Amino acid sequence: MTSLTQDAQLYIDGAFGPAASGRTGPVHNKATGEEIGTYALGGQADVDRAVAAARAAQAGWAVLAAPERAAMLLKFAAVLQDNYEDLLAQSMRETGGVRDKAEDEVGTSIRQLAISAVQATENAGDILPPYKQGKLSLSRAVPLGVIGLITPWNYPMNLAMRAVAPALAFGNTVVLKPGELTPIIGGGVLARAAAEAGFPPGVFNVVTGDGEEAGWPLATHPGLDMMDFTGSREIGVRIAEANASSLRRIQLELGGSNAFVVLEDADIELAASCAMVASLEFGGQTCISASRHIVLRDVADAYVDAITKRAEALVVGDPFDNRTDLGPLISERQRDRVHEGIVGPSLAMGARLVTGATYDGLFYRPTVLADVTPDMPAFAEEIFGPVLPVTVVDSEREAVELVNGYPMLMNSVFSADLMRGMRVAEQLHAGEVHVNDAHARHGAENQMAGFTKRQWIGLQRTPLLLPAWATGTR
Ligand code: NAD
Repeated sequence: MTSLTQDAQLYIDGAFGPAASGRTGPVHNKATGEEIGTYALGGQADVDRAVAAARAAQAGWAVLAAPERAAMLLKFAAVLQDNYEDLLAQSMRETGGVRDKAEDEVGTSIRQLAISAVQATENAGDILPPYKQGKLSLSRAVPLGVIGLITPWNYPMNLAMRAVAPALAFGNTVVLKPGELTPIIGGGVLARAAAEAGFPPGVFNVVTGDGEEAGWPLATHPGLDMMDFTGSREIGVRIAEANASSLRRIQLELGGSNAFVVLEDADIELAASCAMVASLEFGGQTCISASRHIVLRDVADAYVDAITKRAEALVVGDPFDNRTDLGPLISERQRDRVHEGIVGPSLAMGARLVTGATYDGLFYRPTVLADVTPDMPAFAEEIFGPVLPVTVVDSEREAVELVNGYPMLMNSVFSADLMRGMRVAEQLHAGEVHVNDAHARHGAENQMAGFTKRQWIGLQRTPLLLPAWATGTR
């Protein structure tokens, strides 16, 4: 068994190799700064080759019996499972996350493969009531074709797998471009595991590389049937615009400023505990992290005290030390964005620093900001760092109005009255809302629907019912 965590080469048409340019980039351990590997710097020529290989393989992959594709996915899962501890360590080194985060990332990826394998063998269509007498109407799910996939660095393995597994399960082929800060755990490992599982050449391809050089040629490639992108709004918008005239199907999973609402009857200790998860898990570097805390005035002081007490007790340090709660931020760029782009300007605009806002290298202390107002970057922007900005409001209605109007993925509401919590939750515009809870990620492992299209099939049961003009009998 070869190591899955070796340097990330390109994986195209079943073969590993260097980029056409011959160039590589370094992969770093985020906690120590040590170079732990390299990744091939792919470009346009490599993307062209990968898309062509995926195209050539697609029809043959799609006609395999569903149980055969399912078996291949289960082998893929088994290879990852066999390398579980090695993969956890690689994720911890490359992303800077603690062991719990790595277990979530790798475990979710393995489960996703198993779930997609089952779904591949389940009901793949419907029988519909015919619109005309004497007809039979069937609809069946058919693969889209060749899927281009671009993923970020924060949960690199499972953000890739949540698309790779269902796409392959349903007979699509895939070209993956992983985030350049995590190219081994997010791409190289998956390529090695797929090769070991025995996927036919071209079914799954990986082109590592940077955003503009490798990502853009893939995102705009005319040979794709669908482009699936997870990352920043800025790049997502560019990709949407570039694909508009081709009408190519695109799927965008972007970021937003998620809200955490604490009503005056909330259990403050519960809310504060959930706030740690919501805003600080993996240093707040997740798309579903709570980016702003909107709290009713009556309980605001108690809430700030409760989150501050918890935030100050957290240990920031080496992810491999099991006393550590938060590891490093992913990069200096990200740290500067948090510190100089969000915390500093918000303080300058009148926010009150309660705790934190200090760092040592990439190790950023959990930070609580009070007196945050909607005009401050700490309120309006996705933070992607360990910061809890608290904004005080005077009514439930004001809270709802303040939450809405910003891009959001997931919100939370806290109230002792469940029905009230649900009523408020229903008014918040987000894909997922929790009451007295945070971060549950409902449905994250059931992504099949996005990777099929419906094909409407009309079956002629009785030729006699054909119109006379069509049969030449009038
Ligand atoms: P990013 O947009 O900078 O990079 C994401 C990916 O896009 C990387 O692979 C990168 O190389 C690539 N890329 C960069 N420039 C490109 C270009 N011009 N053309 C094509 N590809 C390009 O985002 P990031 O900093 O890596 O990730 C953080 C963002 O991702 C946050 O906004 C976060 O909310 C979002 N995110 C969303 C989800 C979700 O499921 N909605 C999950 C995780 C992260």
